[in-house]
Amino acid sequence: MMRPDARARVTPAHVPRKSLGQHFLIDKNIVRKIVRLAGLQPGETVLEIGPGRGILTEALLDSSGLVVAVELDTALCAHLRATLGRRSNFRLVEGDALTFDYTQVPSPFLVVANLPYYVSTPLLFRLLEERRCIDRLVLMLQEEVVARLAAAPGGKDYGALSIAAQFYCEVRQAFRVSPTCFRPKPQVGSAVAVLTPLPKPRVSVADEAFFFRVVRAGFAHRRKALLNSLRDEDFEGAPTAAALERAGIDPRRRAETLRIEEFAALADGLLSLNQKKE
Ligand code: SAM
Repeated sequence: MMRPDARARVTPAHVPRKSLGQHFLIDKNIVRKIVRLAGLQPGETVLEIGPGRGILTEALLDSSGLVVAVELDTALCAHLRATLGRRSNFRLVEGDALTFDYTQVPSPFLVVANLPYYVSTPLLFRLLEERRCIDRLVLMLQEEVVARLAAAPGGKDYGALSIAAQFYCEVRQAFRVSPTCFRPKPQVGSAVAVLTPLPKPRVSVADEAFFFRVVRAGFAHRRKALLNSLRDEDFEGAPTAAALERAGIDPRRRAETLRIEEFAALADGLLSLNQKKE
């Protein structure tokens, strides 16, 4: 009889490591759909995060100039070297995509990846930091994360990730992917999103770092009124109330109801009040 874990094996020696988010694509139709969506032009450079056993990598190698793939798992790296190492347009980096030096990749490049879900939010923030080198990102993610990326104000999905993604990029939800397209099957639904970095941020703000501090503070206690959430995150009550009034925002509103433009007006107002005080 087959041992229970044997069915989940992807290469003779590799048992998927759930701690590394290893849910491998097994559906070639989905691979084709992702590559088509990426709209690769001959000669373009692609960065793939988490190539795994290489199902997507192989398709990317067939249609792009150079594929740089960053994989954390040593055993999978050995497998990739053995199977794809002879392809002249393949560069494998054994390491962590969170700390990887993205300037090593000739820019501009595309990011195409079935991301490890356990670390997808910090990876998304990291990729947004690198947006100036990136033409577009085609990413398989947990369905819930795609909903957060594309969320409009007013619902539970809308938060700091939605604002960061939409501040810097055009976000499009492309298609859903069933758990049956992976092995082992994930417990959650998946979806593919396309993020296209904008030439400049969607809204102009005086200080981007301060704007994101205000956003994070607003969502830190998302069930509280904005004034209270900001106060709990060390923004003084009186200037915050004044900045809210100046921006025409009712202090009883919650962060999840504010459009990006309203957060920008609030952050700029707070910043100019702080500067006047100094
Ligand atoms: N691309 C493959 C596929 O579609 O079948 C594998 C995708 S699997 C969801 C995620 C991959 O990311 C795994 O191969 C895992 O080892 C790798 N990984 C996990 N954490 C990583 C990290 N911090 N940096 C780079 N790769 C990572």
